[in-house]
Amino acid sequence: MESITNKVEGSILPDTKKVGSSNKNIERNHRILIIDDNEAIHNDFRAILESKDENAIDLGEEKNAIFGNQQIKEKLSNFEITSAFQGKEGLLKIQQALQEGHPYAMAFIDMRMPPGWDGLETIQKIWEEYPDLQVVICTAYSDYSWHEIVKKLGETEKLLILKKPFDNIEVYQLASALTEKWYLTQKARSKQEELEQIVKQRTELLEETNRQLTIALEEAEEADRAKSEFLANMSHEIRTPMSSVIGFSDVLAEEDLTENQKKYVELIRQSGKNLMQIINDILDFSKIKAGKFEIKMIECDLDQILSEVESIMGLDARNKGLEFKIIQKEKLPSQIYTDPTRLRQCFINLIGNSLKFTEKGHIYLIASLEYDNDNKPYIRFDVEDTGIGIKSENMESIFESFSQVDHGASRKYGGTGLGLAITKQLSNLLGGTISLTSQLGKGSVFTLTIPVGMDIKPKSSSAKYDTSKNSTINSDNQNNTKLSGSVLIAEDCPSNQLLVKIILQKMGVDVTIANDGLEAVRKAQSQSFDLILMDMQMPEMNGYEATKILREKNITTPIIACTASATEGACKKCLDVGCTDYISKPIKRDELYKTISKYLPLIVSSV
Ligand code: ADP
Repeated sequence: MESITNKVEGSILPDTKKVGSSNKNIERNHRILIIDDNEAIHNDFRAILESKDENAIDLGEEKNAIFGNQQIKEKLSNFEITSAFQGKEGLLKIQQALQEGHPYAMAFIDMRMPPGWDGLETIQKIWEEYPDLQVVICTAYSDYSWHEIVKKLGETEKLLILKKPFDNIEVYQLASALTEKWYLTQKARSKQEELEQIVKQRTELLEETNRQLTIALEEAEEADRAKSEFLANMSHEIRTPMSSVIGFSDVLAEEDLTENQKKYVELIRQSGKNLMQIINDILDFSKIKAGKFEIKMIECDLDQILSEVESIMGLDARNKGLEFKIIQKEKLPSQIYTDPTRLRQCFINLIGNSLKFTEKGHIYLIASLEYDNDNKPYIRFDVEDTGIGIKSENMESIFESFSQVDHGASRKYGGTGLGLAITKQLSNLLGGTISLTSQLGKGSVFTLTIPVGMDIKPKSSSAKYDTSKNSTINSDNQNNTKLSGSVLIAEDCPSNQLLVKIILQKMGVDVTIANDGLEAVRKAQSQSFDLILMDMQMPEMNGYEATKILREKNITTPIIACTASATEGACKKCLDVGCTDYISKPIKRDELYKTISKYLPLIVSSV
């Protein structure tokens, strides 16, 4: 028996599966196995089920009532009967049929078959190997109660009980119904397997696609990180020497030069500035795209911001022969809650464009206080120019990145097409909006709105700029204000050393140089200075260590950290080690002046 079971598991079951395999065309199956120890019973079954002549079946009176006269011929199936006389033999026949790929659909099994297995035992063994077989158990007596049958075989819909003596029609009906049931079960299973197969294939496909997408996403993120890093490094690497170029040309421009030399120096200075602007735009744009743009909202002085804009842009505008005014139409609040650096950047971008695209006439920056629908105050800034104007069909698209109205024109005027995209992003980050009206050939007005962001504090009457009438803002006259005192510059780069030294000397300051942190510590201990300008990235000993040591040695001289990245975190790091203030590298003359003048005595000249 054991060898049979093994054989069954090894080779017959796959055949069983084959019956229901998804690709197999399931056909109707009329194979019936009779397992009974009484030969006469076999003959009875054959007589009922094998006959092709309906009259041979004694359907009696019920014939018409059940089948109806007309359909009986079509209804009679041609069953194929196999006989087995003991349970074991029945099992063997079933195994054989499975192996041959022609399984039985159903079996009539006698309950009592001495000396071998009885009906229940036979069914048990058969279902262990071929659970699909539909079974009718034939019993003359109540050998087992229904309860006992269920206990042995489990509750199943595959088993029916036929009491002896048989009713011919009942036998025929059972054969028809159960072979059909076998067929439908196989078909349903085949369909289900087919669906499962499809689902499996789709799932595999989706998993594979997902896997590839994850890999692609990781690669893209890595490439994006590498790109941002590359951009940040490159722009730093380019900005550093460019600031030397600009710085020295500034210094050179103040020397006694011939007219031609002045022209050449101015060209170098202007080209350097343009290149710097492009690099800054690209860096800002990539930072905004990566969501790494830092916005630092603080309470700030609006006059101060406008005054800085005037000093940065006013001179260039007037040099071009344009009238330039900053007009305050309403009583503006003295303080607003915003990021002054970014707001200034918006103005510089907008006014820079006006400068580029205006040949004659004026550029005005007009500021007014307005209220939105919720009665919240905001400042409206109109940058108005009398330049070439913009066609209405281009007004939307110019706020998109790398968008320029006309390539011919942009070649003439230069630019990257990033300025307005950055300005739009910045105004959104500040909680505001930007819009445009323009007339071709007449000029443009770019309107920027920024929330006041806090309770309005009225300006004191001593405010620098009287807002009761239209007023213009003048630039600082810092050139007339000299400084005095001694400054130690700790800086390893020779060109930076020289540039800062010249700028400081021009401001009236005595300068001493230290080439690294160690030398700075030594010099600051042996000599007293009014101020130390400390580069934070230096070989041998960096600025952080040098500052720490100086503070540990109770040197209280103000130390201004010069740091390449002026992010909040980087600045805090400088203050944490004991620096007094910070300034971002590359060093700009105005910024340097503004910062060091807080710590050095001023000498106001009487010019
Ligand atoms: P770009 O660096 O090319 O100036 P922007 O994004 O700042 O990039 O501007 C996009 C385009 O919008 C410009 O190339 C120009 O065609 C148009 N534009 C911007 N400002 C003005 C203006 N004030 N007058 C006329 N055209 C302008």
